[in-house]
Amino acid sequence: MAVAAPQLLLAAKRRVVVVGGGFGGATAAKYLKRFDSSLEVTLVEPKRTYHTCPFSNLVLGNLKGFGELAQHYKTLEHKYGIRVIHARAARVKPGVVLLEDGVKLPFERAVVAPGIDFRFDQMAGYGEFAVEAMPHAWQAGEQTSRLRQQLAAMPEGGTVIICPPENPYRCPPGPYERASLIAQTPKPKSSSSTPRSNSPSSSFSWTAGSSTTGR
Ligand SMILES: Cc1cc2nc3c(=O)[nH]c(=O)nc-3n(C[C@H](O)[C@H](O)[C@H](O)COP(=O)(O)OP(=O)(O)OC[C@H]3O[C@@H](n4cnc5c(N)ncnc54)[C@H](O)[C@@H]3O)c2cc1C
Repeated sequence: MAVAAPQLLLAAKRRVVVVGGGFGGATAAKYLKRFDSSLEVTLVEPKRTYHTCPFSNLVLGNLKGFGELAQHYKTLEHKYGIRVIHARAARVKPGVVLLEDGVKLPFERAVVAPGIDFRFDQMAGYGEFAVEAMPHAWQAGEQTSRLRQQLAAMPEGGTVIICPPENPYRCPPGPYERASLIAQTPKPKSSSSTPRSNSPSSSFSWTAGSSTTGR
């Protein structure tokens, strides 16, 4: 018995809950299982389809289809034996993840990888309504699709303005890559342009046949 008790304890301490099924969380879940298949790994992710930011600028430049960004969770479930729960975590407390629907997921170890999000209350006049009208597409998915549609509907000679956020941010080359890829599409028929800085107030735009950089 003296030996069996710690073994039982160890056997019970093998639950890992991973919050967020993006690059970070999904990779952590996969490799935890690969390193030790006896672990009970649960991945919590609200979306059933994850659209990658990598390659999303190619969609904006019309070089890839939107569907090519889609990733699913079936391989993690069926090949790696990860339990995937499509729900949103509300809180992580010591030893337990609480889901928004009230379900409690006990764990011995947790990985929290929910990515980034906007703080809409931090800028006067900005809000969720704004990203519908002016899609940022820094989170791939619906935003990418919305911006692609706006670009496709833009008249020849239209103007695109990109405001790179202040460093550090998610993808430092992203705005420049995006500018180049949009510029190489038939609309707008123009040369590309490079922003001078990444301050929130800097922006650049281009119109048919010319490009401008401004603050
Ligand atoms: C335009 C663009 C291009 C990029 N190109 C590249 C590239 O070419 N190469 C590269 O390496 N990187 C690139 N990046 C950066 C890359 O996309 C990010 O570094 C990466 O997505 C970060 O992964 P993550 O897992 O931390 O977050 P995310 O990918 O954002 O994943 C977080 C996940 O957590 C989920 N989540 C959020 N809240 C909760 C919650 N409460 N409960 C449960 N789940 C939750 C979200 O639904 C999401 O699926 C690019 C980024 C952008 C914007």
